[in-house]
Amino acid sequence: MAFVAATFGPTSAHAAAPLVKTQAPGFYRMMFGDFEVTALNDGVVAYPTAQVLPSATPEVIQATLSATGLKDPVGMSYNAFLINTGSKLVLIDTGTGGKLDDSPLFHGAGRLVANLRAAGYQPEQIDEVYITHVGPDHIGGLTLGNQRAFPNAVLRTSKAEMDAYLNSDKAREDKFWHPFRSNLFEPYIVAGRFRSFDQDMALVPGIRALATPGHTPGHTSFVIESKGQTLIVLGDLVLMGAMQFSDPTLSSPFDADPNAATAQRKRMLHLAADHDHWVAGAHLSFPGIGHVRFKHGQYSWKPVNYTIPQQ
Ligand SMILES: [Zn+2]
Repeated sequence: MAFVAATFGPTSAHAAAPLVKTQAPGFYRMMFGDFEVTALNDGVVAYPTAQVLPSATPEVIQATLSATGLKDPVGMSYNAFLINTGSKLVLIDTGTGGKLDDSPLFHGAGRLVANLRAAGYQPEQIDEVYITHVGPDHIGGLTLGNQRAFPNAVLRTSKAEMDAYLNSDKAREDKFWHPFRSNLFEPYIVAGRFRSFDQDMALVPGIRALATPGHTPGHTSFVIESKGQTLIVLGDLVLMGAMQFSDPTLSSPFDADPNAATAQRKRMLHLAADHDHWVAGAHLSFPGIGHVRFKHGQYSWKPVNYTIPQQ
């Protein structure tokens, strides 16, 4: 006892206060058939629920959150997904790129590339970048300065999305967003590394685009298939998992067409629950991967179990 007192005496206060408010590197890896799937976190933003889902009454918000032990504002994860098919390395969405740092809400976001490196990959290795939709938190990471952040990648998004946000007269009049959006795509277009797609089609073997318009006009989900398993990358179809699984009809002013977004959300949740597909969501609590269940007339979310992939 005397030894302990001498070593850890009154001068020892190493654990007096939390010093660094960080987590382990934000990547989560799992095997999926022959593919490796890595969720990459870009940041966490604590949005007040009423701002994201004003269609929910304060009573419903309070009751739903407290049923799962959550308090408002709930931290919304910002996730991207890296798929290694064995022959192609595909990144779905690119995070904020730190370009929303002016907003105190988004301060500290933009960690996707650091987490990509922590997961053992370099930006130069990415073969393909797929964009679910032209939202600043999904395309912000496309560039570093005015250079391509993924210099060897082909960038793909739906033609409907490009037409809505980059090519239309209406988009050109949008003084705030248009330069931001177009500048991010431009380095890829100039380098001949941009391709749009205008139908549900295979982009590389095992990954296909699936149009799910509503949140934005050309919002796209990506369906990944390997060895009989299916994973649907939902993009922004579910913004707040804590609320919208129990009531998928809750819409958001962040949805360009709330009715269409709700219809697509219900369609995808039904599909995933019915076929026991894996699901990955851009704003579901990190890693944002899991299953959807339907019981007693209600959906629920079953997050993936933490694991270390086996050889
Ligand atoms: Zn988003």
